[in-house]
Amino acid sequence: MRDNFSFKVPGEVKFDSIEILPEVIEEKALEKPLLVSDNGLQEAGLVKRVKDILKDGDIDFEIFLGVQPNPSMENVDNGYARYKEHDCDSVICLGGGSSIDAGKAIAILATNDGNIIDYAGMHAVENSPVSIIAIPTTAGTGSEVTPVAVITDEEKNYKFTIYSYKIIPETAILDPDLAASLPADIAASTGMDALTHAVEAYLSKISHPFADAVAEKSMELIGKNVRKFVADRKNHEAAAGMLLGSMFAGLAFSWGRLGNVHAMAEPLGVYFDIPHGVANAVLLPVVLDYNALADEGKYQRIFNYISRKNVDNFRPELLAKEVYELNEKLGIPGSLSELKVDSDYIPDMAEDAMKSGNVKINPRQTTYADICQLYQEAL
Ligand code: NAD
Repeated sequence: MRDNFSFKVPGEVKFDSIEILPEVIEEKALEKPLLVSDNGLQEAGLVKRVKDILKDGDIDFEIFLGVQPNPSMENVDNGYARYKEHDCDSVICLGGGSSIDAGKAIAILATNDGNIIDYAGMHAVENSPVSIIAIPTTAGTGSEVTPVAVITDEEKNYKFTIYSYKIIPETAILDPDLAASLPADIAASTGMDALTHAVEAYLSKISHPFADAVAEKSMELIGKNVRKFVADRKNHEAAAGMLLGSMFAGLAFSWGRLGNVHAMAEPLGVYFDIPHGVANAVLLPVVLDYNALADEGKYQRIFNYISRKNVDNFRPELLAKEVYELNEKLGIPGSLSELKVDSDYIPDMAEDAMKSGNVKINPRQTTYADICQLYQEAL
């Protein structure tokens, strides 16, 4: 554990029905929010639901639906153009991590000059963005409470991260019923993404008591609910557990940061368009196995949160096996080969992964050659 640390608590989290949205907007005296979302949410009927709630609440608003999964700089520029054209004054992000991150980026451009990539890295956002209200529909990235936005530079084939306390959404509305329309495969991969956040933050070299506490609560909730939620996304209790679990995981990694899984997952999204959650889920058991050597007792606690087995003689290696089996039960591919990843790209992907700050805080020291080997094993 670190001998000094600090953390900032998030904006307001309202665990409530989406129907409260007009009240939230009125409280903040917002005059014209831009609703940022994507076509998947439109097809699922959630954009219409929010539009109707806003209209019934007499709220003036504009819509931008041009967000793609792993949102690009172009998506952000197009969203900001819509924001300016219609004189908006705030952003409502409706969706998974992609729509929330794109909305955060649009909110940055609303008060800061230049290009969104100028704000990549740690604390590079100068002026506070306009008000951001985040409504997650996956459980999930936790982006609704994190100081993070991940955007893809399509020209350079690289995903960059903006990390700034200023982009923590002012208000997050967590309504478990919004997850009811999630297809089972997206529920599974986004659920494993949330679990990966909690596990990596918990094991990271810079974890501290606050990050540990929320990571443990997150693992407890996800371990208890992920199977039931993937089996039936309309199970309100399971969805509520997952939404809270992913929010706690978001808090955990905001302050405990992450590790090799995330460093290696981002290039898989960029080079092979693999959804973020799927990449994390496939890599998690491989990296846990590699990190087992560095375990100081946390592996057994993680195991107890996610497993249904009672094990007498626990060994850290059992955790990787357990996660692998959980993936299998949830219908997640067992290897990168199944996802058509080509081993020729390993050197380039490993080079990009090494640029991530998360490798440096992974519990076991990791070199470029180790990352290549880990990709190879995941294949
Ligand atoms: P996503 O936002 O890309 O959504 C995946 C698909 O699911 C989309 O097609 C979307 O339309 C659909 N979808 C979402 N909710 C739905 C619902 N309720 N019903 C039907 N369809 C629905 O997926 P994600 O995994 O939530 O986000 C991934 C992105 O978030 C990546 O770019 C990743 O890098 C980023 N990320 C950000 C943070 C952060 O803190 N900002 C953390 C982790 C990951």
